Amino acid sequence: MPSYEFECVDCKKSFAVVLSIKEREKGGVQCPHCSGKNVKPLITPFQVKTSKKS
Ligand SMILES: [Zn+2]
Repeated sequence: MPSYEFECVDCKKSFAVVLSIKEREKGGVQCPHCSGKNVKPLITPFQVKTSKKS
């Protein structure tokens, strides 16, 4: 399940939501803290697993 991290512009809190690309494009993301829709996506690497062997 892909999860996306967002930051609320209004209350400055970040949160992660699991949603499909479609839902994400629809812009149905809401801040769980203040119910604001003024959120922006954060690009976070926590989904990335590096399997580099050096
Ligand atoms: Zn908020």
